[in-house]
Amino acid sequence: MSTIPRSLFGFDNSFVRELEGLYEPWQPAGSSRPTFLALNRPLAAELGLDVATLERPEGLDVLAGNRVPEGATPVAQAYAGHQFGSFVPRLGDGRALLLGELAAPDGRRVDVHFKGSGRTPFARGGDGKAAVGPMLREYVISEAMHALGVPTTRSLAVVGTGDHVLRETKLPGAILTRVAASHLRVGTFQYAAQAGDTGLVRRLTEYAIDRHYPEVADEEHPYLAFFTAVVDAQAALIARWMLVGFVHGVMNTDNMTISGETIDYGPCAFMEAFAPGTVFSSIDHAGRYAYGNQPYLAQWDLARLAEPLVPLVDEDSDVAVAALTTVLSTFPARYSGYWLEGMRAKLGLPTAVGGPPAEDDAEAVAPDVALANDLMALFQADGVDFTLGFRRLAGALTGEDRWLRDQFTDCEAFDGWAARWRALLGDHDPQQVAAAMNRVNPLYIPRNERVEQALTAATEGDMAPFERLVEVVRAPFDEQADAELYATPAAPAGEPYRTFCGT
Ligand code: AMP
Ligand code: MG
Repeated sequence: MSTIPRSLFGFDNSFVRELEGLYEPWQPAGSSRPTFLALNRPLAAELGLDVATLERPEGLDVLAGNRVPEGATPVAQAYAGHQFGSFVPRLGDGRALLLGELAAPDGRRVDVHFKGSGRTPFARGGDGKAAVGPMLREYVISEAMHALGVPTTRSLAVVGTGDHVLRETKLPGAILTRVAASHLRVGTFQYAAQAGDTGLVRRLTEYAIDRHYPEVADEEHPYLAFFTAVVDAQAALIARWMLVGFVHGVMNTDNMTISGETIDYGPCAFMEAFAPGTVFSSIDHAGRYAYGNQPYLAQWDLARLAEPLVPLVDEDSDVAVAALTTVLSTFPARYSGYWLEGMRAKLGLPTAVGGPPAEDDAEAVAPDVALANDLMALFQADGVDFTLGFRRLAGALTGEDRWLRDQFTDCEAFDGWAARWRALLGDHDPQQVAAAMNRVNPLYIPRNERVEQALTAATEGDMAPFERLVEVVRAPFDEQADAELYATPAAPAGEPYRTFCGT
């Protein structure tokens, strides 16, 4: 395997330098006839990469795993994980490699990572490969999430390998190049801990602090402060998911980052008709990772991060467990705080409106919380499209409420809700409130039907629907010409369209 000049990627490898024991050096398998399926030019520019060089054959060869750039020391990272509640002590990158770390022009350090680059020592029974469809799915969903303001790993490129992957049928293979703040996961800590090596857990924690939460290093109890920071980052992240209707699908501990970025887009999707029980993953029979369960499961996963930290937090394990448990128990309030902040913006409520419940009534719910919860109950009763329901709410302030009113069987209930909402909005200028709402309530999300259609076409060699979908979801808040299809909810399966009140 030949090398190419440093000019393309100036790699550094702090993970490899500092965390021996958490990886296996390995090489990508390469591709027989590589072609670009997607190249993220805006991201490349953001990372200070020379787009023109990336696009040339030598760039393609790197992204196809055929040449390892000078300075890169590819490794398969080790991690453990609870998958659907069961502990697997050795998972790791079975079909992925960390190529190296880059310093972006803005000072951030990011991982550059392959997925689908061949079997590794962690492959177990897997073939080490990835198919075009799932890699393009990760590309488009992560682009959409980024545009929606949700912390996420990014996708730099998807390269078709020219080789086949055997799934239920023979499919074209692909390699995704993923960019992330890091690939440290809850499962990385679990792996270090089950090796029985407290020194390794300590090195890993110090590395994670240095890379993601340097401000906690000066705290009196840095390890506890580190755990608090991760709990907070995850509370903020899950609130963002809930506010855009995102269902991750496999919230196993190996798929939860320490950085607070969304990672591993597998059987994920955006909910359309609002229903807390929404599940997309065909393997999630019990609905463990349903939309409405995500905050609880995040807290469960974070408890798995607390366990390896016990020996670091205090010599007395009872003291450590108590301290970590206290921090973990702040998750619901942190999550609710972030959710309410986002929900207030979605409803156009200015910061000062609402306020705490009356002091003499401990059971009372704050008016803004009640307003948000009641709207969700109305959405649920009629299966209103989560994205469009919020987007059209702004119209209700400017006299265009017909679509929205039409969604509800119980018009009086909606009208009553809208009257309370207007009362909380007070005398703020409706046009301005509507404009602010349209900056946080997206019009376009990657709807399942559009994603499936784009991936099917791409698998058959037609990239046009995929490219159009990426273009639309990159500007989710701006009404775009000829894009109605991308804002249209799927017809409920097996049911005719229903019309309700108002018409
Ligand atoms: P995921 O469901 O993508 O989060 O993967 C869970 C685990 O299975 C990770 O350890 C992956 O590296 C591994 N894995 C998934 N697919 C393959 C494959 N085709 N070949 C080897 N390992 C795989
Ligand atoms: Mg994973």
